[in-house]
Amino acid sequence: QKPKQQSKKMEGAALIGIDTAKEVDLGEWYSQVLTKGNMISYYDVSGCYILEPASYAVWESIQAWFNLKIKAMGVRNCYFPLFISEDNLQREKDHVEGFAAEVAWVTEGGKSKLDKKVAVRPTSETAMYGYFAKKIQSHRDLPLKLNQWNSVVRWEFKHPMPFIRSREFLWQEGHTAHLTEEAADREVLEILDHYAGIYEELLAVPVIKGRKTLAEQFPGAHYTTTIEGYIPATGRGIQAGTSHCLGQHFSKMFNITVEDPSAKGADGERKPPIHVWQNSWGLSTRSIGVMVLVHSDNKGLVIPPRVAEIQVVIVPVGITAKTSDEDRATMYGETRKVAASLRSAGVRVELDLREGYSPGYKFNDWELKGVPLRLEIGPKDLAKGVATTSRRDQEKDGKGELPLADLATSVPALLETIQKDMYNCIDAQYKAHRKQLTNWDDFVPSLNNKNVNIVPHCLQPDCEDTIKDLSTRKEMDGAPEDSKAPSMGAKSLCIPFEQPAGIIEGETRCINPECGRFAKKWVNFGRSY
Ligand code: AMP
Repeated sequence: QKPKQQSKKMEGAALIGIDTAKEVDLGEWYSQVLTKGNMISYYDVSGCYILEPASYAVWESIQAWFNLKIKAMGVRNCYFPLFISEDNLQREKDHVEGFAAEVAWVTEGGKSKLDKKVAVRPTSETAMYGYFAKKIQSHRDLPLKLNQWNSVVRWEFKHPMPFIRSREFLWQEGHTAHLTEEAADREVLEILDHYAGIYEELLAVPVIKGRKTLAEQFPGAHYTTTIEGYIPATGRGIQAGTSHCLGQHFSKMFNITVEDPSAKGADGERKPPIHVWQNSWGLSTRSIGVMVLVHSDNKGLVIPPRVAEIQVVIVPVGITAKTSDEDRATMYGETRKVAASLRSAGVRVELDLREGYSPGYKFNDWELKGVPLRLEIGPKDLAKGVATTSRRDQEKDGKGELPLADLATSVPALLETIQKDMYNCIDAQYKAHRKQLTNWDDFVPSLNNKNVNIVPHCLQPDCEDTIKDLSTRKEMDGAPEDSKAPSMGAKSLCIPFEQPAGIIEGETRCINPECGRFAKKWVNFGRSY
């Protein structure tokens, strides 16, 4: 009974793949890559998705890496409730204003209406800081550094996109309190470095570090730092992770104070209590979406080796109906040995001994799932003492041979090469698409060429609104998100920490022709997610 079903599948080998090209319809391509690659499954609540084991494994790699980093900084994991009382949510004015449009509320429990509605957390500042006020009684209780791995709900009305913009998403949110502004500032940047590490070292995605302009900063923050990624296929920027200094905004609202440790003893002067300095920082499963969008191709997912659940797949080849049972047993035995030796070298290996599927079908299947490296082993390879290698990240020139005897060292090395090459490939594209401009006439054409523009800017929020307006093509209003993307207005992405030279204070003008103010900084503007 089994072979019958399987031979039907074999005929369908060509059908399992992606049937829409990335260059033709990115939205449809992305959806197929994710579903056919078993990363997500759709769900019947709009903007919510099922994360299948293949994508959750990537998230677990991120968690493991980041937990090590933050624990070394003295951060401890904990868990706070999903619900926030209305009173607490409203404590900080800017914060509540910023999130009001996206908060989901529980108004009923069973059949009865609640006396007071409760919010589903869009982020947990206001869930946590009452607790901070209780726990922090003295400067000796500082710093307090907590993190939670959880999900949050933001009832977004923009077009949802798996991982990139969903209504419920997984993230970590760190919340810390410090005695001094300097200690808070230091931590903000240390976390931002770790965020960049997640993208660059694990996901092979280059990012740019910078600070958000006032218009784009986190509601309630003193300032926001960010890492900004780039999706070459659309030329759009994407906020990849944010580390905020909240200043004393929340500690004032939640009364989180300590006595001033510099106050003198016995009859020394009594100084007023100090409001603590706070930070919060978050990175979400959006990171997985960015990884998929930048690396994957028309054969499906391409997953960087460091986060791939399966790093290497071994496929026996060259077995035909004529192969004797004995030869087949030898072949399988050899591939098992190779798999075992790779496993003991710490490589995550899958040995594909499925009967009734052709090697071609298996190749397509593992390519769709994005496994970084395939080893093909057949009678001819065995006779030569080699395995044929095929890299997932390279269309051409991805084939090679490695001696069987030293696979335990050559395969991990090749995986590292793949990881680096994947990063370098996207890095080159990002670099080629950052354009430093000073003339407004070049601004929109440059966006249309899929660039991020680095321009002199005055940093005023109203000017950002005008730039957005001036760079939007109105006639596309109402068109579907994907076709509309090329006409969408540009936002400020960040004030990059690495500032080019050339802005002269009181001389260089803001790029916006309707602005007239002097430029303060070089700012990255782009169409974005
Ligand atoms: P925020 O708390 O707004 O600074 O968000 C923290 C991080 O979560 C951002 O840097 C985004 O990368 C990510 N994020 C924000 N909104 C969403 C969303 N709707 N879906 C997935 N990730 C999101």
